Amino acid sequence: MLNEAKINETKPKVTVAIIGAGIAGLSCASSLQALGFEVQIYEKSRGPSDRMSTRHGEGWTADHGAQYFTARDRAFIEELNTWIKAGVAAAWHPNLSVYESGQWQESNSKEKRYVGVPAMNSPGQYLAKNLSIECNQTIDKIYRNDGKWHLHSLENGDITQSFDYLVLAIPAPQSYALTKLVDHSMEAFCSSVDMQGCWTVMARFLEMADMPFDAAFINNEIISWISRNNSKPGRTGQETWTIHATPQWSQQCIELEKEEAGKLILDSAKQLGLNCQNAEIAIHRWRYASGATNTEAGFILNEDNKLSLCGDWLNGGRVEGAWLSGHKLASAIHISAALNP
Ligand SMILES: Cc1cc2nc3c(=O)[nH]c(=O)nc-3n(C[C@H](O)[C@H](O)[C@H](O)COP(=O)(O)OP(=O)(O)OC[C@H]3O[C@@H](n4cnc5c(N)ncnc54)[C@H](O)[C@@H]3O)c2cc1C
Repeated sequence: MLNEAKINETKPKVTVAIIGAGIAGLSCASSLQALGFEVQIYEKSRGPSDRMSTRHGEGWTADHGAQYFTARDRAFIEELNTWIKAGVAAAWHPNLSVYESGQWQESNSKEKRYVGVPAMNSPGQYLAKNLSIECNQTIDKIYRNDGKWHLHSLENGDITQSFDYLVLAIPAPQSYALTKLVDHSMEAFCSSVDMQGCWTVMARFLEMADMPFDAAFINNEIISWISRNNSKPGRTGQETWTIHATPQWSQQCIELEKEEAGKLILDSAKQLGLNCQNAEIAIHRWRYASGATNTEAGFILNEDNKLSLCGDWLNGGRVEGAWLSGHKLASAIHISAALNP
């Protein structure tokens, strides 16, 4: 007689395609895989982790996306503890300042801050190790046929495998582009969330820059944040500073040439005391850096067509919000699959 274990063994696994290998997609995939789903991730760039990212050069690295993250939710704290145990995250205790109305002051923030170790993309790479990810696959079309999701990739055409569930773990404007032909209520929702860009400058110095802090929140027209990468745990190599422009200024100037945006940011940094004249400079434009809403669940799942959305922009923004969004969506898909086999 077949027992329940035998039946489960022969039952095909529910399949899920996840578009996007940022921290939300990786979190959703890890949780789904642990729950017994067969998961395939498609990622348009060369590797995972995107906005939790690090630029590498000869003898230097710079975190040029997320600078640190906080951990307040119990589930995320548990996850963070596994990252710390695996050596891919650690607490960061910067000497922190604030610049406001032309005045510097020491920050009195008691927030606990964490970073990836040795780089901001280390937790993402750690999660990616046990997952199936196809990189350099930009999904530019999705459609549903015979109760399954089908995908088309810009680089490779139609993807042969079809899927029971589809998760879009990508920013709002990119989700809008994919949902508009297949789900009008999701399309309308995606178009209602604005995301702003961020201009980022990385400056490499031959000697230690003479600044009296490791990082600072800046309230001026152009710059919002500067920080010394080497003050973070596990960083070696040349002294490197990251400068982020404000979301408002970045969005206004998003179409500037890199060099032009970089010059305006560096002029502003000089006025703050960070003179990068002798530094080597790299500049990055993030088209969709910030901007989020708070959905009730932290994700969206349409149980009828099995299409879903997760990501920081549905859950307050930031790394913790992104991870939780993917994690909670996985539980919801688990329940949905049990109720609608
Ligand atoms: C400059 C900057 C500073 C930040 N600072 C902080 C901070 O200090 N603290 C903090 O907590 N958070 C910060 N954040 C936000 C944090 O990085 C994000 O909240 C988080 O990393 C978002 O993860 P995600 O998985 O939702 O999205 P992403 O990381 O954007 O992942 C989405 C993935 O989808 C891929 N993709 C998109 N479209 C397609 C497609 N059509 N086909 C295939 N793949 C696709 C992308 O390549 C990307 O890898 C910052 C972000 C930026 C940019």
